[in-house]
Amino acid sequence: CGIVGYIGANDSKEILLNGLEKLEYRGYDSAGVALLNDNGMNVFKVKGRIAALRDKVDHDVISTMGIGHTRWATHGEPSEDNAHPHQSNSGRFTLVHNGVIENYYEIRDEFLTGVSLKSETDTEIVVQLIEQFVAQTNDVLAGFRKALSILKGSYAIALIDNQNPDLIYVAKNKSPLLVGLGDGYNLVASDAMATLKETNRYVEIEDKEVVLVQRDSVEIQKLDGTVVERESYVAEIDA
Ligand code: GLU
Repeated sequence: CGIVGYIGANDSKEILLNGLEKLEYRGYDSAGVALLNDNGMNVFKVKGRIAALRDKVDHDVISTMGIGHTRWATHGEPSEDNAHPHQSNSGRFTLVHNGVIENYYEIRDEFLTGVSLKSETDTEIVVQLIEQFVAQTNDVLAGFRKALSILKGSYAIALIDNQNPDLIYVAKNKSPLLVGLGDGYNLVASDAMATLKETNRYVEIEDKEVVLVQRDSVEIQKLDGTVVERESYVAEIDA
């Protein structure tokens, strides 16, 4: 179980697939990527390993931002439907998640009674919840924060809003996640190993922080919106 995300100028597909291969040791019953471009969101998922995902991905799809996931199932059997990324019912939001949402039954029964779910995962309720809250608040960041404030359990999350190709929303609690910094591009990953081809400069993310990752900037906030300043560091790791 691991996540990776990239936003920059290059084609994200290879960067994500290479990163996922490096995360495969964390779990590998299924995998997927979501690649946003001018034609919309392109999601590819497989039951099985990254090699199978590489075969499934349409290599004609070029995208400069995307997210990927390698899954170790906790809720719902390993299957294509249960593989991440998961999308909200309107298709607007796409999300990958590593961890376990402990109160997902409660969330489903309290907030998502009218929503038909397409998978058996604890993860899908997060993306559907974000869609509900964004509809109420009319503000993606506010909706994302509101959803995070009621989640119990562990998560590393990367979220894409189809309507904003310039931003990946990220958050974590008790699951590993860091940001990798580049020149004109940035990455997020569960493990620095997934990004070593692209960078060796990182910023740590702490629990209950929200990160707004753009091509030229990374902004870390607390859940209440307070901006956090944190130094980056260079990691000396042998690939
Ligand atoms: N709990 C989620 C699921 O079963 C995420 C598992 C993981 O971290 O890979 O889909």
